[in-house]
Amino acid sequence: MKRKRIKQRAAVGRLGKWLTRRSRGRCELCTERDTVRAFELPPFPEEPEFERTLMACERCRQWLERGGVDPIQARFLESAVWHEEPAVRLAAARLLLEIDDLSDPWLVDALDAAGVDPETREFR
Ligand SMILES: [Zn+2]
Repeated sequence: MKRKRIKQRAAVGRLGKWLTRRSRGRCELCTERDTVRAFELPPFPEEPEFERTLMACERCRQWLERGGVDPIQARFLESAVWHEEPAVRLAAARLLLEIDDLSDPWLVDALDAAGVDPETREFR
């Protein structure tokens, strides 16, 4: 599935220092240390917000931007969906929706815990 790629904004860099502290320099989805960068979840608010921004490694950023999530590599999403940071839960929920469908009761529970609506792919 081809999707429109939404370009990350330079303004997200303003959150970088704070996000590095929050994430301890790791991808907040998979805990990878390399290639980690701030990633803002679309649609963007006027100014970047912590609740819609996370630190993510290159692989996770690509999945968020372009899809093509590999279910085997993506096992970490099963715990990321319970993360204390809303942005991480939202990102994990969106990626899980790529690889699973709502006939799986586990996914329904996980989205519920994340507070994400499967229809809108947004917080309820
Ligand atoms: Zn990652």
